[in-house]
Amino acid sequence: MSNWQDYPCKEWTGALTKGYGRVWDTAKKKVVYVHRKTMEDAYGPSDLDVCHECDNPKCYELRHLRYGTVTSNLNDIKRNNRVYRKINQETADLIRASSGRHVDIGRQHGVSKALVQKIKAGHQWQNPI
Ligand SMILES: [Zn+2]
Repeated sequence: MSNWQDYPCKEWTGALTKGYGRVWDTAKKKVVYVHRKTMEDAYGPSDLDVCHECDNPKCYELRHLRYGTVTSNLNDIKRNNRVYRKINQETADLIRASSGRHVDIGRQHGVSKALVQKIKAGHQWQNPI
């Protein structure tokens, strides 16, 4: 098994968008990223991001590309934060200071019992990113 470093970058010399090579995809009838098309032609389509091992956006050498999870990781972070976005800092403090049944506190502040539990359990309040 050889390393991707053993192969030189194949740099796209055509049109670029944000530094990435763009090419017309006759099957899709639209302009696509060269590195993504290279991956899809080789491994099939994926929702995952195509990552460059070589950090060279222009490169479309198949051995330098891999499907990564950058986007899905970001989505996970956003999903986790969304629950906190429904309320503001002040409400979180009020909830933390309240006593009584979680369901009642939640109803009072218009949030779910689960969120009250989370805040009460000492989950650090995080300002939205
Ligand atoms: Zn490369």
